[in-house]
Amino acid sequence: MSEKARRALVLGGSYGGLFAARVLSDRYDEVLIVDRDRLVGVTGPRRGRPQGRQINAMHVRGLQVTEELFPGFIQELVADGCPTGDYAGSVRWFFNGLPLQREDIGYTAVPSTAPLMERHLRERVELLPNVQFVERCDIVDLEASADRSRIIGARVRHLEGDAGEEVIEADLVVDATGRGSRTPAMLAKLGYPRVPEDRIKINLGYATQHYELDDDPWEGDLAIIPVAHPGCPRGAIFTKTDHGKVELTVYGLLGDHPPTDQEGFYAFVKALPVPDIYEALRNARPIDEPVAFHYPVTLRRRYERMSRLPAGLVVTGDAVTSFNPVYAQGMTVAALSALTLRDHLRSDAAPDPAAYFRDLARNVIDAPWEMTTTVDLSFPDVPGQRSAKVLFLQRFLALVQAAATVDPKVTTAYMRTAGMVDQPTALMRPPMLARVLLRALQRSTGRNPRQPTLTRTA
Ligand SMILES: Cc1cc2nc3c(=O)[nH]c(=O)nc-3n(C[C@H](O)[C@H](O)[C@H](O)COP(=O)(O)OP(=O)(O)OC[C@H]3O[C@@H](n4cnc5c(N)ncnc54)[C@H](O)[C@@H]3O)c2cc1C
Repeated sequence: MSEKARRALVLGGSYGGLFAARVLSDRYDEVLIVDRDRLVGVTGPRRGRPQGRQINAMHVRGLQVTEELFPGFIQELVADGCPTGDYAGSVRWFFNGLPLQREDIGYTAVPSTAPLMERHLRERVELLPNVQFVERCDIVDLEASADRSRIIGARVRHLEGDAGEEVIEADLVVDATGRGSRTPAMLAKLGYPRVPEDRIKINLGYATQHYELDDDPWEGDLAIIPVAHPGCPRGAIFTKTDHGKVELTVYGLLGDHPPTDQEGFYAFVKALPVPDIYEALRNARPIDEPVAFHYPVTLRRRYERMSRLPAGLVVTGDAVTSFNPVYAQGMTVAALSALTLRDHLRSDAAPDPAAYFRDLARNVIDAPWEMTTTVDLSFPDVPGQRSAKVLFLQRFLALVQAAATVDPKVTTAYMRTAGMVDQPTALMRPPMLARVLLRALQRSTGRNPRQPTLTRTA
């Protein structure tokens, strides 16, 4: 677009909506963000984003994109009390119950609670002069042209005051209403085909509690992360956050959910496959009650496979793909999706939804979706088709994880893909492949150069 178009309407003011608004603000005279919650000035968890009570960590790539779109963002979090460290070297990662080699990979991690990070992002968006928040407003329907070929706005209901319902017109509508997005139903009502979906039932349960620490028993480490694996379908993320507080999320797949009574919660932590977190809790004072979150299925909406789509509408964030939260990909994918949207705003024409969804699938979603569904399907009781490719990738990933417990170069490569800096295919480049296979051979002949580093307990 050589000149700014008139108005973009963003449905939903969480990460997906905020990132989208940032790139839209360069191309539209006016960007409106509609949300059913109050947003401006909110500092804590909010109803429309219940996952904000659980741990929400942003991967390296997500932080890089955020920093690109909002220069100085990381420094603002640090100034607000968030610790920083190396994404791999400052974190005790455990895969299959074994610690990875500790190796600085040169990428920053900035643990923060979900509400704190969201507030900082929102405050940066608030500074954009052509962006406005329309709060306490429920999105009721999409508004289409008479021939239904174009979305021309959205019908909203004001949840406070006497304004009732109104149609907000726009040249482009961006749906960022998250996993519960009603766009598929609204499109069906307008006569469009059903949006194809992929789902994997994982029956995941989270519970999260926050603590204050008397001292730092972690020898400067930022986080302890034992990842669930088929031998033990429970895991945890224990991380420092702002002002010396710590946040602990424990989770279990396939119905093995953590209890929220204090005694049961501690018992769940004690039964984790590594003792580090239970040991660290000895110096920790709870500052709230454990809070649960149930996440039954992952969900990918395949807009790129639609035979027909209306003009004037794109979708982003969890409204397109809701990943298994254990792998912490959603916010990074929301950030990357905004870059795809930005690319599609560069031409003179308004974005072509089919081309946008095609690029989004290919360049942003395919790789993390394949990676995480591969891991989800390694749990034998998770229902789903295990193709030859999936079985091969599972085997290869297990070799990479085993090699990363003894070889820092493999740790670096693996953490770069986990942090979404590199595509998973980077692990299959000949030098890395050779390394992984060599370590497997050494393991089978009992000739590994190093043993996995012993777990450091507090
Ligand atoms: C338990 C859990 C833990 C997670 N942990 C991580 C993590 O560690 N790292 C990570 O990267 N990702 C994580 N995620 C995913 C992450 O939360 C999302 O990817 C991220 O919030 C981006 O989502 P979004 O903006 O698309 O949607 P959401 O964050 O779900 O926001 C949707 C917004 O739309 C608004 N809205 C919805 N419907 C309407 C309506 N009809 N009218 C008006 N407003 C509406 C809501 O109020 C909300 O503000 C986790 C998810 C869950 C469930």
